[in-house]
Amino acid sequence: MGLFLPGSIRLLIKNLTFQTLIAALAGVVLATIIAEPAWLTAPEKPAFYELIIMLKQVFLAALRMLIAPMIFFSLIGGIIGIGNVVRLKALGGITVSYYLSTTLIAIGLGLFAVFFIHPWTAYPPAVEVPATASHLRMIDPGSDSLILVIKQILMQAFTNPFSALVKMNILGIVTNAFLIGIAMVLVLPADSKLFEIVHQVNQVIYRILGWVIKLLPIGIFAILFDFSVKLSVGDGHSADFLTQLIQFAGLVVALTLIHGLLVLPLIGWFFARRSPVDTLRKIARPLLVAFSTSSSSATLPVSMQTCDETLKINPSVSSFVLPLGATMNMDGTALFEAVAAIFLAYLYGIELSNVAIFTVFFMSMVSSIGAPGMPTASMSGMQMVLLAVGIPLEAIAILLIIERPLDTIRTALNVEGDLYGAMVVDHQTRSAEGRS
Ligand code: ASP
Repeated sequence: MGLFLPGSIRLLIKNLTFQTLIAALAGVVLATIIAEPAWLTAPEKPAFYELIIMLKQVFLAALRMLIAPMIFFSLIGGIIGIGNVVRLKALGGITVSYYLSTTLIAIGLGLFAVFFIHPWTAYPPAVEVPATASHLRMIDPGSDSLILVIKQILMQAFTNPFSALVKMNILGIVTNAFLIGIAMVLVLPADSKLFEIVHQVNQVIYRILGWVIKLLPIGIFAILFDFSVKLSVGDGHSADFLTQLIQFAGLVVALTLIHGLLVLPLIGWFFARRSPVDTLRKIARPLLVAFSTSSSSATLPVSMQTCDETLKINPSVSSFVLPLGATMNMDGTALFEAVAAIFLAYLYGIELSNVAIFTVFFMSMVSSIGAPGMPTASMSGMQMVLLAVGIPLEAIAILLIIERPLDTIRTALNVEGDLYGAMVVDHQTRSAEGRS
C-alpha cells in the first residue's frame, strides 16, 4: 500500500472536489486569522479584501452567465432527446410525482417536528403583534392571497422567451423550453436539422462550463472568506431572543440533515437501488457548490456534470429532470419556510388554527415551487406564507438575521433532492424499458 501512497496523494491533490474542500477551509481559516469586522464599514477596504470580493463576484458572474442559456437549451435537448411523447409522458409523470412527494415529506417532517419539539416556547413571545396585523390572521386558502400567488406564478411562466432569457426569469425559461421542446417533437420530422443544432449548442455550452468549473477552488475560497468576515460582525439583540433564534436555526439544520441524510438516501435506495454512502460521496461536489453559492441554479452546471460523469445517468433524463428540479423541486426551501412561519407566529404570539397550519403547509409548497434557485430567493415567497396566516410582514427582518447561513444548507438539500430525482427517474425508466 505504502508504495502507492505518493501516487494516490498526487491523484487526491489533482481531484477538484478535494481542492475545493481545501480552498473552502483556507477561506474560513484565513478570514478568522486576519479579517477585521471594521473592514465592512470602512470607506476604503484593504486591497487584499477588495481582491477577494472581486474574485467572488467574477466567479459568481461566470456561473450566472451560463444559467439562462443552459436551462433553456438543455431542457429542450432533454425533451427532444427523449424523442417520443409517450415516453415523455411517463418521464414527466415520474419526475413530477417524485418532486411533489419529496417536498410534501420535507414540509410534513418540519411541521411534525415543530409540534413536538418547538424549543423556543420556553421563552415568552419576543415581539408584540401590531394591531394592524391581526385582521390578516387566518386567511383561508381560498382567499385573495392564494389567487395572487397562483396569478404571479402563471404570469411569470407565460412570458415571451426572449424576455425570459434576458431577465433570467427561470420559470418563464422552463415553460418556454418545455413548450418548444414538446412542439419540436410533435411537428418536426425525426431527421430535422434543428434537433442536431440544439445538440451542438448544448455541446458548446458544456465546453464553456468545463472552463468555468476549473475556477471552482478560487471562487469558493473567495466566497467563504467574505462570508466569514461578515459573520464576525456582532449584533445587539437580547439574550432570550438570540437563544430562540439559535434554537430555531438548530431545528432547521437538524431537520434538513434528517431529510438529506436519511429520507432522500432511503428513497434512492428503494427506488433507484443506490447505496446511500457511495452516492453521498459521488454527489459531494455539487452539494459543496450549492452550500457555498446558496444557489441551485448556479449549481446546475456542476450537477449536470456529476450526473453525466459520476452517476452515469442517461443524459436525456438528467437534462430533463435537473433544470426542472432546480426551479420547482426545493425540499430545503419548503421545509425552512414551513418551520419559519410557525416560529415567527410564536414570536408574535399568534395562535395558529388547523386551517392556518394547513395554509402554511400549502403555501410553503407553492412558494418553494415558484422560488428561483438564487441566494435568499425564498424570502419573497416567504411573504406569501406569512401573509396567509396573518403574521406581519416585518417579521421577515427577523429571518434575515439568520437567513444567510441557513440558505447554504437548504440549498444543498434542494440540489440533493434534484440529484436523487435524476437517479430515481433514470432507474424507473430503465426498468420500465426492460419490462417492455
Ligand atoms: N437559495 C435557494 C436555492 O437556490 C433558494 C432559497 O431557498 O432561497 O435553492
